[in-house]
Amino acid sequence: MRVFDAGRLVDGRRDEAIEDARLVVDDEDGSVAAVGPREDVEAPAGADRESLPDATVVPGFVDAHVHLQGARSMNIENWLATPDSEAAARATTDLRRLADAGFTSVRDLGSSVGLGLRAAVSDGEVSGPRVFTSGRAISQTAGHGDVHGVSYERVADGTPLSTLADGEAECRKEARKRLREGVDCLKIMTTGGVLSQRDTPDVRQFRDAEIAAMTTEADRVGVQVASHAQGAAGIKAALRNGVDTIEHGFHLDEEGLELLAERDATFVPTLAIMHRITERGDEHGVPEWGLEKSRAAREAHLDAVERAYEAGVPVAAGTDFMGPALVPHGENALEMELFVDEVGMTEMDALQAGTRVAARTLSRDDVGTLEPGQCADFAVLSGDPLADISAVRDVEQTYVDGRRVDGDYS
Ligand SMILES: [Zn+2]
Repeated sequence: MRVFDAGRLVDGRRDEAIEDARLVVDDEDGSVAAVGPREDVEAPAGADRESLPDATVVPGFVDAHVHLQGARSMNIENWLATPDSEAAARATTDLRRLADAGFTSVRDLGSSVGLGLRAAVSDGEVSGPRVFTSGRAISQTAGHGDVHGVSYERVADGTPLSTLADGEAECRKEARKRLREGVDCLKIMTTGGVLSQRDTPDVRQFRDAEIAAMTTEADRVGVQVASHAQGAAGIKAALRNGVDTIEHGFHLDEEGLELLAERDATFVPTLAIMHRITERGDEHGVPEWGLEKSRAAREAHLDAVERAYEAGVPVAAGTDFMGPALVPHGENALEMELFVDEVGMTEMDALQAGTRVAARTLSRDDVGTLEPGQCADFAVLSGDPLADISAVRDVEQTYVDGRRVDGDYS
């Protein structure tokens, strides 16, 4: 057993922090044995004890939307030209950066190397957060996951981030191929997007029957489906046809909001990438058409997140970060800061958005909170994020299953 005595602890569930807290970790199975105010929780005899009087212990952060493709450029055609071996090697550095930044679980929504990374991390050969992955996303031809500026022959077998499927039969088969690989979720694209040249966020993609073919296959085996959905029509089509999480959601309308609530779906707005692209995408090689589409969506996007938050819909932290200097892994806590600074969330709600709520999108239910029996996934922050949300960046230590994963401690 190991005992952590901290100045305060946020468990991811209660609305208040526990002051003068004690966390007891069972280091045999990596779970939380006990947690509460120090005076109520006995320290087991002979346990190792760590005293952190000024620190805040929080559940490990969860980024519900990343791409683990080791990208180092915002030029999509470069991604096409990068071999998987290079992508995987670079992505192991991204995983270390995520662990250093307090992240203990990430959901990879589109990569060709996520499944291999998941295996290496779970075997303890690569240090990093738990990896949950969709494998490659599924897009229609000419959809968001297609690369429009190159010949069709170069994308016919898919890109590193996505494969193409058209018609019910192909969609069903593509979903089954992913499930055969053992993915944690499916990622589909029901609208155009910012970083795809010849479509726009408001263009709907995939027909109802195509979406339903994919969600039906996933649902049968208890796998969630995430949809890249930015315009109102594509958001609603995704929800009506069984999708579980809406990614981006720029133009979420009232009906879309009702559908989210009705289906108990999770909204992952990915403010961080939009913030970075609109602030300084021009210095990082984001093409002019991408900059224009981002700027045009900015106000509606923030408004959508505010309305969802006010309506009590689960809003989860996800950055869409992928590795280049503009959107690097390791700075993913930015999403929680933006929730406070731009959406008006309370600090506690932002912390929960980045822990328990983001964990709703994962394929297991024993992460996201610090409660007895849950995985001992946590971060030690040097400051108090409830007083100043920027403290989410000051991570001293990160633990997955009660084992330290930051720095050289793996
Ligand atoms: Zn994405």
